[in-house]
Amino acid sequence: MEDMLLLKLGEIVLKGLNRKQFEQKLIANVNRRLKPFGSFNIYCIQSTIYVEPKDEFFDMDAALEAAQTVFGIASISRAAACEKDNDAIFETAKSYLGGEIAAAKSFKVESKRADKRFPMTSIQISQYVGGLLAEEYPDTLVDVHNPELTVHVEVRDLAAYVHGPAIPGAGGMPVGANGRAVSLLSGGIDSPVSTYMIAKRGISIIPVHFFSFPYTSEMAKQKVLDLAGILTKYCGKLMVEIVPFTHIQEEIREKCPEEYFTLIMRRFMMRISQRIAELNGAKALVTGENLGQVASQTMEAMAVTQECISLPVLQPLIGMDKEEIITVARKIGTFKTSILPYEDCCTVFTPRHPKTKPVVADVIEAESVLDIEGLVNEAVAGIERVKLTV
Ligand code: ATP
Ligand code: MG
Repeated sequence: MEDMLLLKLGEIVLKGLNRKQFEQKLIANVNRRLKPFGSFNIYCIQSTIYVEPKDEFFDMDAALEAAQTVFGIASISRAAACEKDNDAIFETAKSYLGGEIAAAKSFKVESKRADKRFPMTSIQISQYVGGLLAEEYPDTLVDVHNPELTVHVEVRDLAAYVHGPAIPGAGGMPVGANGRAVSLLSGGIDSPVSTYMIAKRGISIIPVHFFSFPYTSEMAKQKVLDLAGILTKYCGKLMVEIVPFTHIQEEIREKCPEEYFTLIMRRFMMRISQRIAELNGAKALVTGENLGQVASQTMEAMAVTQECISLPVLQPLIGMDKEEIITVARKIGTFKTSILPYEDCCTVFTPRHPKTKPVVADVIEAESVLDIEGLVNEAVAGIERVKLTV
């Protein structure tokens, strides 16, 4: 009997022509994530990725947990592989799931026969294995309609597999399969969630953080790196771009009307992020904006913020309630870090009365006193890059 994982592909099965590439991307991502936990044979047949240990040195609990964070996988079953033979299947079910069958009130066996050369139909396999298990565990009822436990048997090309109920995978599409985007990552609750959600659509992420030392502390920067570190579980390795933002903010504070501080600052963030995108072949920007949450997140303010760039701005949280965002933040493990109390650069320079319905022409005029190109170039030249691995 062999302990292994069966990973069922999610949406990529819909991908037709690109399917092979998607599968290869996913296999590479699974390989990378599971590497610390053993040496595995990982291959894909019929919309299922097989993860089989090559030797006895593996940690299947940890591998299972890691597999649950890989986008592109719909569900996961930890299974036992055995010879394609009825009695071997029964013996495997007994040793692998016996404890669970004995503890359940009722069970049934459900079989799938992908290998049509196998001499029994799937119903016959279920009846045969189910019959023997019922004799073995007389206190557990057989209930084919509403069983507490379903014992799954799959007869496939290379072997037969026995497993209990599947657990949900991370869903989405394999990271890297759909291109690259620059994600603006603050230390808040929202942007780690927006980053996660876009990565889930198969996008590989370049996180960018605007850092205003000494107005914001090294602790604030470390917090963002910690958040990015948590996100590597889902996004794979990340190169975080830390942009020095102090000079820009001081220039704005000195030379522009206070009511436009935030908007002008956000336009700089967009320009610099677009520049980083161009340098890295990324095709969109990602923000954690959420309609109506703060003054800079009205439709008018967003129009102003985006007017100075041409790349699309993806805002996956735009229609979510704060509670919904927090639920995701808790699920992906970023919430506790996000609520640590370090100032973000936005809060340090927040105007007392920000414009909620700004007019583009007025903002352009207000920022025209600045050397925009020079400030952007200076910030890009000063970028610090921090590499984070999973
Ligand atoms: P968050 O919880 O993500 O900080 P927020 O609700 O505080 O969001 P804002 O401060 O208006 O909203 O920021 C909106 C978005 O702008 C953020 O979600 C993030 O994508 C980006 N952003 C804000 N501050 C920074 C920063 N210092 N570095 C990088 N991106 C930032
Ligand atoms: Mg914020």
